[in-house]
Amino acid sequence: MNYCPECGIALTAQSYQGRGEVLLCPAGHACYPPGPKILVAAFVNCGEKLLWMKRGNPPRAGHWAIPAGFMENGETLREAVSRELREETCVHIPPENFSPYMIGSISFISEVYIGLHASVDTTACACGEEALDVGFFREDEIDWAEVAYPSANDAVKTAYREARENRFGIYHGDFTDMIDRLDLVLPPPT
Ligand SMILES: [Zn+2]
Repeated sequence: MNYCPECGIALTAQSYQGRGEVLLCPAGHACYPPGPKILVAAFVNCGEKLLWMKRGNPPRAGHWAIPAGFMENGETLREAVSRELREETCVHIPPENFSPYMIGSISFISEVYIGLHASVDTTACACGEEALDVGFFREDEIDWAEVAYPSANDAVKTAYREARENRFGIYHGDFTDMIDRLDLVLPPPT
Protein backbone atom coordinates (compact mmCIF):
# COMPACT_ATOMS: atom_id res chain seq x y z
CA MET A 1 0.00 0.00 0.00
CA ASN A 2 1.25 3.48 -0.89
CA TYR A 3 0.30 6.60 1.07
CA CYS A 4 0.05 10.28 0.15
CA PRO A 5 3.28 12.04 1.18
CA GLU A 6 1.25 15.13 2.17
CA CYS A 7 -1.67 13.76 4.17
CA GLY A 8 -0.92 10.09 4.73
CA ILE A 9 -4.19 8.83 3.24
CA ALA A 10 -3.95 5.59 1.31
CA LEU A 11 -3.62 6.27 -2.39
CA THR A 12 -6.25 4.84 -4.72
CA ALA A 13 -5.86 3.55 -8.23
CA GLN A 14 -7.51 5.86 -10.77
CA SER A 15 -7.19 6.38 -14.47
CA TYR A 16 -4.98 9.32 -15.31
CA GLN A 17 -4.67 11.13 -18.63
CA GLY A 18 -4.68 8.02 -20.73
CA ARG A 19 -1.73 6.55 -18.91
CA GLY A 20 -3.70 3.72 -17.36
CA GLU A 21 -4.24 3.18 -13.66
CA VAL A 22 -2.05 5.28 -11.40
CA LEU A 23 -2.10 5.89 -7.64
CA LEU A 24 -3.58 9.25 -6.67
CA CYS A 25 -4.52 10.92 -3.36
CA PRO A 26 -8.34 10.95 -2.86
CA ALA A 27 -7.95 14.32 -1.08
CA GLY A 28 -6.55 15.81 -4.27
CA HIS A 29 -2.98 16.42 -3.18
CA ALA A 30 -0.49 16.43 -5.96
CA CYS A 31 0.77 12.90 -6.22
CA TYR A 32 2.93 12.53 -9.21
CA PRO A 33 1.94 9.55 -11.32
CA PRO A 34 4.68 7.07 -12.05
CA GLY A 35 6.36 7.84 -15.32
CA PRO A 36 9.75 8.12 -16.97
CA LYS A 37 12.56 9.34 -14.72
CA ILE A 38 15.19 11.78 -15.88
CA LEU A 39 18.76 10.58 -15.56
CA VAL A 40 21.40 13.30 -15.90
CA ALA A 41 25.02 12.42 -16.63
CA ALA A 42 28.14 14.59 -16.44
CA PHE A 43 30.67 14.15 -19.25
CA VAL A 44 33.59 16.11 -17.81
CA ASN A 45 36.89 16.20 -19.66
CA CYS A 46 40.31 17.51 -18.70
CA GLY A 47 42.15 17.42 -21.99
CA GLU A 48 41.92 13.86 -23.32
CA LYS A 49 40.81 12.45 -19.97
CA LEU A 50 37.23 11.87 -18.83
CA LEU A 51 35.98 11.82 -15.24
CA TRP A 52 34.69 8.46 -13.96
CA MET A 53 33.34 7.23 -10.65
CA LYS A 54 33.36 3.75 -9.16
CA ARG A 55 29.79 3.18 -8.07
CA GLY A 56 29.20 2.62 -4.37
CA ASN A 57 25.49 1.85 -4.69
CA PRO A 58 23.46 -0.65 -6.69
CA PRO A 59 22.90 -1.11 -9.53
CA ARG A 60 26.38 -2.19 -10.64
CA ALA A 61 28.14 -1.28 -7.39
CA GLY A 62 31.91 -1.65 -7.63
CA HIS A 63 31.98 -0.86 -11.35
CA TRP A 64 33.10 2.34 -13.04
CA ALA A 65 30.63 4.70 -14.72
CA ILE A 66 30.29 8.24 -15.97
CA PRO A 67 28.87 10.23 -13.01
CA ALA A 68 25.09 10.35 -13.21
CA GLY A 69 21.97 10.54 -11.10
CA PHE A 70 18.32 11.47 -11.08
CA MET A 71 17.02 14.98 -11.49
CA GLU A 72 15.07 16.18 -8.45
CA ASN A 73 11.87 18.21 -8.28
CA GLY A 74 12.43 21.91 -8.84
CA GLU A 75 15.84 21.60 -10.49
CA THR A 76 16.98 22.63 -13.93
CA LEU A 77 18.96 20.09 -15.93
CA ARG A 78 22.18 22.02 -15.38
CA GLU A 79 21.53 22.35 -11.65
CA ALA A 80 20.84 18.63 -11.43
CA VAL A 81 24.01 17.58 -13.21
CA SER A 82 26.11 20.08 -11.26
CA ARG A 83 24.72 18.71 -7.98
CA GLU A 84 25.19 15.07 -8.92
CA LEU A 85 28.76 15.73 -9.97
CA ARG A 86 29.54 17.55 -6.72
CA GLU A 87 27.92 14.79 -4.62
CA GLU A 88 29.72 11.95 -6.37
CA THR A 89 33.13 13.38 -7.27
CA CYS A 90 33.53 16.62 -5.23
CA VAL A 91 34.11 18.43 -8.53
CA HIS A 92 32.42 21.82 -8.45
CA ILE A 93 31.30 23.09 -11.85
CA PRO A 94 28.71 25.90 -12.01
CA PRO A 95 25.48 24.84 -13.73
CA GLU A 96 25.95 27.44 -16.48
CA ASN A 97 29.21 25.78 -17.57
CA PHE A 98 27.39 22.65 -18.78
CA SER A 99 26.30 22.21 -22.39
CA PRO A 100 23.78 19.72 -23.76
CA TYR A 101 25.59 16.72 -25.17
CA MET A 102 23.72 13.42 -25.37
CA ILE A 103 19.98 12.99 -25.08
CA GLY A 104 18.25 9.70 -25.35
CA SER A 105 15.72 7.14 -24.21
CA ILE A 106 16.39 4.04 -22.15
CA SER A 107 12.97 2.60 -22.75
CA PHE A 108 13.36 -0.76 -21.00
CA ILE A 109 13.77 1.03 -17.66
CA SER A 110 11.62 4.06 -18.59
CA GLU A 111 14.36 6.63 -18.22
CA VAL A 112 15.17 9.74 -20.20
CA TYR A 113 18.92 10.14 -20.46
CA ILE A 114 20.43 13.61 -20.61
CA GLY A 115 24.19 13.88 -20.75
CA LEU A 116 25.73 17.32 -20.33
CA HIS A 117 29.33 18.25 -21.02
CA ALA A 118 31.83 20.54 -19.32
CA SER A 119 35.60 20.94 -19.48
CA VAL A 120 37.91 21.52 -16.54
CA ASP A 121 41.56 22.60 -16.26
CA THR A 122 42.53 20.31 -13.39
CA THR A 123 42.04 16.64 -12.55
CA ALA A 124 41.31 17.46 -8.90
CA CYS A 125 38.48 15.25 -7.58
CA ALA A 126 37.61 13.22 -4.49
CA CYS A 127 35.20 10.49 -3.48
CA GLY A 128 31.70 11.65 -2.66
CA GLU A 129 29.16 9.72 -0.62
CA GLU A 130 28.06 7.42 -3.42
CA ALA A 131 31.49 6.69 -4.89
CA LEU A 132 34.10 4.09 -3.98
CA ASP A 133 36.70 5.83 -6.13
CA VAL A 134 36.88 8.66 -8.66
CA GLY A 135 39.38 9.74 -11.26
CA PHE A 136 40.15 11.20 -14.67
CA PHE A 137 41.29 8.54 -17.15
CA ARG A 138 42.45 8.29 -20.75
CA GLU A 139 40.53 5.97 -23.09
CA ASP A 140 43.33 3.37 -23.06
CA GLU A 141 43.20 3.23 -19.25
CA ILE A 142 39.60 1.94 -19.21
CA ASP A 143 38.76 -1.77 -18.87
CA TRP A 144 35.77 -1.58 -21.19
CA ALA A 145 34.52 -5.08 -20.36
CA GLU A 146 34.27 -4.25 -16.65
CA VAL A 147 32.49 -0.90 -16.72
CA ALA A 148 29.06 -0.57 -15.12
CA TYR A 149 27.16 -0.02 -18.37
CA PRO A 150 28.88 -1.61 -21.38
CA SER A 151 25.91 -0.73 -23.59
CA ALA A 152 26.98 2.91 -23.24
CA ASN A 153 30.57 2.22 -24.31
CA ASP A 154 30.09 3.57 -27.81
CA ALA A 155 28.74 6.80 -26.39
CA VAL A 156 31.63 7.17 -23.95
CA LYS A 157 34.20 6.34 -26.66
CA THR A 158 32.59 9.04 -28.77
CA ALA A 159 33.13 11.46 -25.91
CA TYR A 160 36.78 10.40 -25.71
CA ARG A 161 37.31 11.05 -29.41
CA GLU A 162 35.70 14.46 -29.11
CA ALA A 163 37.70 15.30 -25.99
CA ARG A 164 40.93 14.58 -27.89
CA GLU A 165 39.73 16.89 -30.67
CA ASN A 166 38.19 19.34 -28.19
CA ARG A 167 35.12 19.57 -30.43
CA PHE A 168 31.78 18.29 -29.14
CA GLY A 169 28.69 17.57 -31.20
CA ILE A 170 25.17 16.84 -29.93
CA TYR A 171 23.79 13.32 -30.04
CA HIS A 172 20.52 11.45 -29.75
CA GLY A 173 20.39 7.85 -28.57
CA ASP A 174 17.86 5.04 -28.43
CA PHE A 175 18.58 2.30 -25.94
CA THR A 176 15.77 -0.24 -26.04
CA ASP A 177 15.28 -3.97 -25.72
CA MET A 178 16.00 -4.18 -29.43
CA ILE A 179 18.68 -1.65 -30.26
CA ASP A 180 21.49 0.49 -28.88
CA ARG A 181 22.12 3.34 -31.26
CA LEU A 182 23.55 6.82 -31.04
CA ASP A 183 23.09 9.35 -33.84
CA LEU A 184 24.92 12.60 -34.36
CA VAL A 185 22.26 15.34 -34.48
CA LEU A 186 24.44 18.43 -34.58
CA PRO A 187 28.11 18.16 -35.59
CA PRO A 188 30.81 19.94 -33.62
CA PRO A 189 31.49 23.51 -34.69
CA THR A 190 34.37 23.64 -37.15
ZN1 LIG B 1 -3.12 13.58 0.19
